[in-house]
Amino acid sequence: MPALGAHVDSSGGLHLAFERAAAMGAESIQVHPTPPGFWGSPKLDEGRISTFKEAAAKHGYPPFYFHAVYLINLAGDDPTMRQRSESTLTGYLKAADELGVGGVIFHTGSHKGAGFEARLPNIVEHLKHVLERADPKSARLLIENNAGLGGCVGARFEEIAQMLAALDDPRVSVCFDTCHAFASGYDERTAADVSRTLDELDRVVGMKHVEVIHCNDSVTGLGSNRDRHANIGEGQIGEAGFRALLHERRLAKLPFILEVPGAGGGPDAAQVKVLKRLARE
Ligand SMILES: [Zn+2]
Ligand SMILES: [Zn+2]
Repeated sequence: MPALGAHVDSSGGLHLAFERAAAMGAESIQVHPTPPGFWGSPKLDEGRISTFKEAAAKHGYPPFYFHAVYLINLAGDDPTMRQRSESTLTGYLKAADELGVGGVIFHTGSHKGAGFEARLPNIVEHLKHVLERADPKSARLLIENNAGLGGCVGARFEEIAQMLAALDDPRVSVCFDTCHAFASGYDERTAADVSRTLDELDRVVGMKHVEVIHCNDSVTGLGSNRDRHANIGEGQIGEAGFRALLHERRLAKLPFILEVPGAGGGPDAAQVKVLKRLARE
């Protein structure tokens, strides 16, 4: 069974996420180490690093990931914005490496109509700089697939594959978001749909590059290109789709991370419970 977990609040200290996750029954963890709507990257010192590492050890080192701020855009035509994005991602990746967590999940950004091919060289150049500057020993950069609204990069698996190929770096991998994929036209409503979508993901991107699953139902329909997460089973993908995803052998060793609304405050124990039930059924 995959490690089933959730995005967790880390306000007051990153180490607190372990206790909060455990209280929810979450076995894999994602946090926003800095407020996602503002520029910034995690500020660490020796005390914070050792407090975090002690908590990680105490909880048995569950899979743990950062989600970068939402302002990141490596695909736009504004060099100042791209540079800021590069520096922020660098700070994130460095911090992830210092804490010994899995890595940094990020959204590549929007080409705003210029086209993916036109922006690809810049995207790749900035990501190479991030890797050079952060020089991580073990933490990875995880490109997340996108719902595809407004020229956002990475809605098609082909775009992710092109970025991976151009970077050709084992420190870069992929986070697959079930809601974003569905909104981009990859069906997941039945076991057959899930199987076909994963065949496509494997053929185009390669499952060996997929490291994390963002596990979200979708408020809006197949191919809607909208990024609106629903609770598991309450959206357009539905329980049958998630049951199939949770039983899919190609995902069996990956952490599943909920980013759902819950009762309004984000993922909660009830949502983790739903995942665990569907994984057992
Ligand atoms: Zn996501
Ligand atoms: Zn989303």
